[in-house]
Amino acid sequence: MTASCIFCKIVDKQIPAKIVHEDEDVMAFHDVNPEAAVHILVVPKMHVQNVVQLAQNEQLLSKVVQIAGQIAKERSGGEFRLLFNTGKSAGQSVFHAHGHVLSNKTSGETDVV
Ligand code: AMP
Ligand code: ZN
Repeated sequence: MTASCIFCKIVDKQIPAKIVHEDEDVMAFHDVNPEAAVHILVVPKMHVQNVVQLAQNEQLLSKVVQIAGQIAKERSGGEFRLLFNTGKSAGQSVFHAHGHVLSNKTSGETDVV
């Protein structure tokens, strides 16, 4: 837990969030400012700054990606973008690693052919 980190506070339930998944290692919740029909953030509970640091723990990175896939399977038929902004100039604003699960396809939606 890093005292000033907003995602640590969400993990610790000090700040509310619309949580869609929680286990001992990973939490996923709706982005407060969604930029797509499906916009969920998947975070390791452990505080690490970015996805490169997260990758030092291969199992945890793998779990974050698997949970992202599971959420996308439920909500967008398994098709999604998984975005990790890394560094301020790349758009990272919260320095607790998080993957954005993004899709404009919601499950049940019929493909337009
Ligand atoms: P990034 O810019 O890649 O660091 O992504 C940070 C994301 O966190 C942004 O899309 C914000 O909308 C989102 N965000 C910030 N504060 C909260 C919060 N309290 N609950 C949910 N999402 C948040
Ligand atoms: Zn944190």
